[in-house]
Amino acid sequence: MKGKISTNVYIEKATHRLKLSNDLVDALMATDRTVTVTIPLRQKEKTTLFLGYRVQHNNYLGPYKGGLRFHPEVNLEEAEVLASLMTWKCALLGLPFGGAKGGLAVDPLSLSAPELEALTRAFVRAIADIIGPDKDVPAPDVGTGAREMGWIKDEFERISGESSPAVVTGKALEDGGSRGRNKATGEGGVAVLANIVNRLGLERENLTVAVQGFGNVGSFLSLGLEREGFKIVAISDVSGAVVHSGGLSARQTYKNMYEAKKELVAMCPCKKGDCSPRECKKLSNKELLEGDVDILIPAALGGQITKENAPKIKAKIVLEMANNPITPEGDAILEKRGVVVVPDILANAGGVTVSYFEWLQNKKEEVWGEKKVLDMLCEKMNKATDKVWQVHKDMKCSLREAAYVVAVKAIAK
Ligand code: GLU
Repeated sequence: MKGKISTNVYIEKATHRLKLSNDLVDALMATDRTVTVTIPLRQKEKTTLFLGYRVQHNNYLGPYKGGLRFHPEVNLEEAEVLASLMTWKCALLGLPFGGAKGGLAVDPLSLSAPELEALTRAFVRAIADIIGPDKDVPAPDVGTGAREMGWIKDEFERISGESSPAVVTGKALEDGGSRGRNKATGEGGVAVLANIVNRLGLERENLTVAVQGFGNVGSFLSLGLEREGFKIVAISDVSGAVVHSGGLSARQTYKNMYEAKKELVAMCPCKKGDCSPRECKKLSNKELLEGDVDILIPAALGGQITKENAPKIKAKIVLEMANNPITPEGDAILEKRGVVVVPDILANAGGVTVSYFEWLQNKKEEVWGEKKVLDMLCEKMNKATDKVWQVHKDMKCSLREAAYVVAVKAIAK
């Protein structure tokens, strides 16, 4: 197993600092179980086979926990990396969960809603034996949301014959979801960034921000950053990026995309509302990453910053809101160049933190208000950030290395 998961280089560094024995290091890096299933879906004129995965990395701290991704590029190797990130994320935040990940290699937009539902339910039947409220608790990820989680809950309950809302998190409120879960990853990122910026002695009003991705994570993050006074100058989605040095309105972007259902590049959600084409530029996602901003926030897919473009990144701070958006080679280059990278296992841990609150509410049959949920989230994110910062200062290491030291210590104590 050793060496197979690319992000294990981070574990190696952290365990080296902690002087852990080799056998323990191997145990921490190993994946407990990988499951691959083939799901046939009957469509009008044909039957198509889809590959599904569930990877359970480690359950030392509690039931396996992590999202299910629906995306054409889902594969076993990536799921293993992402499952291990969940182990370290939960450990860092002090949650009683282990790490898992999985999904289906499918473009959800290529199927009708009934087809996607049939496929999701068949996937649940295929993995029903290995999931459960105290075994492995899936959640949303790229390409999935409350609707899919509702199908998963319903299918699992049909199979088990009993009410079991805690089998999955990220559900709609009417299915037993938590208030604040949709905003959780974004709001968690806002809390972490505000904390780090304060500690660096920077004024947020003077900092320009570029956000790659305006899905669940990028949109709520941008809204939160705007509320907190950061200046967003670039936003992108799959269609490309909109850049305006005078500042973009996250609220207007959200309205245009989610209420008026316009494509991002088909609008200019600038603060002034009357800019000239010279001021409002349309760029590619690649150009957005290399843009002249203070804070760069990859909030879409993994592998965006590599050894090829890392030397060209101009931002001084990178907040990893996607999972694994920087390859280990890219990370080493950014570190050498003195870029402050706030690692994914800290920056985007707000989602699984509120998943934990949802799981608790389901178990205790309670319903908490949004303020309580978001206050508790903010407290947990700040506590984890404080710990990471302390280790970063004490050990004179990067924030990523510090985060892994805290996480590994929580498991290997
Ligand atoms: N998919 C999210 C993540 O990568 C949430 C996982 C969860 O809530 O279990 O952190």
